[in-house]
Amino acid sequence: MSTYLIKNAKVLGGAAQDVLISDGRIAEIAETGHGLEPADAVQIIDAEGHILLPGLVDLHTHLREPGREDAETVETGTRAAALGGYTAVHAMANTDPVADTAGVVEQVWRLGQEAGRCDVHPVGAVTVGLNGERLAELGAMHDSAANVKVFSDDGKCVHDAVIMRRALEYVKAFDGVVAQHAQEPRLTEGAQMNEGTVSGVLGLRGWPAVAEEAIIARDVLLTAHVGSRLHVCHVSTAGSVEIIRWAKSKGWDVTAEVTPHHLLLTDELVRSYDPVYKVNPPLRTAADVAALREGLADGTIDAVATDHAPHPSEDKDCEWAVAAMGMLGLETALGIVQQTMVDTGLMDWAGVADRMSARPARIGRLDGHGRPIAVGEPANLVLVDPAARRTVEPSELASRSANTPYAGMELPGRVVATFLRGVPTVIDGKLA
Ligand SMILES: [Zn+2]
Repeated sequence: MSTYLIKNAKVLGGAAQDVLISDGRIAEIAETGHGLEPADAVQIIDAEGHILLPGLVDLHTHLREPGREDAETVETGTRAAALGGYTAVHAMANTDPVADTAGVVEQVWRLGQEAGRCDVHPVGAVTVGLNGERLAELGAMHDSAANVKVFSDDGKCVHDAVIMRRALEYVKAFDGVVAQHAQEPRLTEGAQMNEGTVSGVLGLRGWPAVAEEAIIARDVLLTAHVGSRLHVCHVSTAGSVEIIRWAKSKGWDVTAEVTPHHLLLTDELVRSYDPVYKVNPPLRTAADVAALREGLADGTIDAVATDHAPHPSEDKDCEWAVAAMGMLGLETALGIVQQTMVDTGLMDWAGVADRMSARPARIGRLDGHGRPIAVGEPANLVLVDPAARRTVEPSELASRSANTPYAGMELPGRVVATFLRGVPTVIDGKLA
């Protein structure tokens, strides 16, 4: 296995240091100019002005395999992940067949191992077929080779309070977590976008904030009642942030994520009727965006999760009403976070490492990811050039789909290199 010397990198945005990677681990760290003289066999990476972070961890990725290989595969999705700086992703269960048995989660797990660019941790469905009626084989999925710890019916809400309670009770046995897609189904029947001024003007069926907030309020109370662990997926409203802040103040074991698109985009974009902006939960208002940024900065929201949701053009390039919901995220997440959180002064790079690596790894109970950059730790790392700028070109993305809402937009930052256990998956900004 090769040895790499990253020279002059700002570790977590701090002072410049040289970091030696050998045998899959961080072997040595020294202040630049003090020690670390490279041997002949060492490959040197000049990281002047670049930021070194732990490899990013995504709690919420749709890899679409098995079943929708026309949209994405584990192979193409993990290419996108590596290019985005990720070393681990959680693959959501709403595949075809649904990942509700040990057999399906093991299949996804194995595909991730074969692709080799990024660790793929399958998320298990909470209920059989995501139908919300009967608990899936949570224990068997946990005991499988995939060792599932995160369970979610994402795409659908576990709306039945008794089923949700049983799931929360069940996962306690193995320190698992239920990741809820909070959407009260009756309040969102036929909903097309955020309910508010813009939906009124456009005459589109609205999706009220209360449909998300009511489920989160119920679930934090249920979690406290049974003493379990809840993770709230893609929080999108100011009220949701308030409820989670309150639940945390009580000491309840509740965590939450926000997507990059909910940190940047608003429902004003729907005026274009361009289905690239159709997403679940919907884009909200500028006031919601501000509250989400504040919640992420103060730690109420634990993690940025992409909700990377590839769709082929026949499902997206059509009339708004029939278009599929979702947008790509893996290759643009870090740039959006730099733009909305770092360049605005709301968060520093150590904060980015915490919200995009350390905390998501802890929520997923992943070993070896989200670790400090220290001697002896696994070399799961990403090197970022924060001064670079790039224009998003959908045809250049590694994802099999092209449904990015950032096409033509200039974003700050560039992933220069990604290391998975000491092996570069990306080098010079390209797949290794
Ligand atoms: Zn969802």
